[in-house]
Amino acid sequence: MPQHPNCHCKRLFIDAPVPSETGGATCDIRKFTEYLFSEKYSDNGKIRMFRMLGFDINGEYKLGLLNEYGQRISIEIDLTKNGRNIRLITGWMVRPKGLITCTTPLGG
Ligand SMILES: [Zn+2]
Repeated sequence: MPQHPNCHCKRLFIDAPVPSETGGATCDIRKFTEYLFSEKYSDNGKIRMFRMLGFDINGEYKLGLLNEYGQRISIEIDLTKNGRNIRLITGWMVRPKGLITCTTPLGG
């Protein structure tokens, strides 16, 4: 310090990020609609792989309760790890303009 001539930079120490406390995750739907499931990029084999796994652009879900808070849906997710299979039923809320947010990663 100083790092640059005639500057007023100050070093500011910050705590290391703690993803479990401050993290979040989003994924632009166009990663699926305009890339993974687009025939335009089918040469990379990703669309074939996803379809082989049973996924398609029109997801499978079950309608749940509809009330003043919104429309609930559930989505089944099959996971396999170390040769063991488990089916999770995840809960989601449909928001305006098609956004869905997870209300429970393990419901039912
Ligand atoms: Zn500077």
